Amino acid sequence: MNKRPRMKDRYRRFSFLSDVEGMKNALGEMRGLFVSKQPVLNQNARRIKQPNIPDEKWFIQTIKHKVANHPDNAMEYPFYGEPIFEDPLIGFVRGSDPIFDQFQKIIGPHHFTPREIMKWQADNNGVVPPDADDISVVSFVMPFTGRTKQDNASAGDWVAERWAQGRLLGEIFSQTFVREIVAGLMDQGILAVSPDATPIFNKKRYPRVGWASPWSHRHIAYAAGLGTFGMHDFLITEKGCAHRLGSFVVNLKLEPNRQRPADIHAHCLQYQGVSCLKCAQRCPAKAISSEKAHDKEACYEKVAASLKYCNTNYHIFIYGCGLCATGVPCESHIPEATIKKLPG
Ligand code: SF4
Ligand code: SF4
Repeated sequence: MNKRPRMKDRYRRFSFLSDVEGMKNALGEMRGLFVSKQPVLNQNARRIKQPNIPDEKWFIQTIKHKVANHPDNAMEYPFYGEPIFEDPLIGFVRGSDPIFDQFQKIIGPHHFTPREIMKWQADNNGVVPPDADDISVVSFVMPFTGRTKQDNASAGDWVAERWAQGRLLGEIFSQTFVREIVAGLMDQGILAVSPDATPIFNKKRYPRVGWASPWSHRHIAYAAGLGTFGMHDFLITEKGCAHRLGSFVVNLKLEPNRQRPADIHAHCLQYQGVSCLKCAQRCPAKAISSEKAHDKEACYEKVAASLKYCNTNYHIFIYGCGLCATGVPCESHIPEATIKKLPG
């Protein structure tokens, strides 16, 4: 369980100073600081033929079990007792998939390929880095609860409290349970790494794509066939776009279990020629338009300003918004009109 003290009966006082885990989470996300020590590869287990090598089914069951039963999938005051996330979606993509080279061209050379991040972990443990085809990425989508979506859909100018809290605690929960899985695999002698829980993870402003991280869970989830991008840049999945995403890399050959649409906007009404732009109407910063789609800089300004708002009003150290992902046709499922257009 994470070390953040659960607030059961009251708000934390002076949250700008006292929400230490919130601050650590923000610094981890932006600067790669305060990440936990990496689990060490069990070299003895590596030499023995393992009887139970985890397969696709194991990863799906394990992640679903974590989300359903983990004590950290839990909100705190004033929503104490509620879960943060509902049943997740899980997908796989092989490290040798050519899409990762395309990401380096489209997003930029700063974006890690699975082999690059795995090499970092292999070097740390003094073993030979595996070939790209012997590596897989496990990607997952954790939908927010109906109450969280409803609250944010009712909010107009600033993120709702349930969404903001879910974003903070959800990130901590996600990192905690991925770390548990990665540590278990490393103990079994299987190299594994959670890229956003390494000191080389940090967000920066890049000339081509603006604010970006070297490991985009969103792009990874697209690569794994879990969804496609909307006008708002959120990933529209079969459970909608109001979610948190995560992914990690393993030295196992896992078979992709979902078909990836070639069109990266296949599930967005507007991109498919069906008039919508409901996300643009929801955005208080006017950061979405038919001409420019998602203006990341305008969005960033609004989201950055929400840190003070959340701190003052919700007593937590987090920024967030997601107003364009709630109260819209793609919030909780793929819009019907775009499903009809998909091949097969
Ligand atoms: S609200 Fe409409 S235009 Fe915006 S991302 Fe969703 S489907 Fe696309
Ligand atoms: S996250 Fe907020 S500021 Fe950014 S585009 Fe969506 S509604 Fe606008």
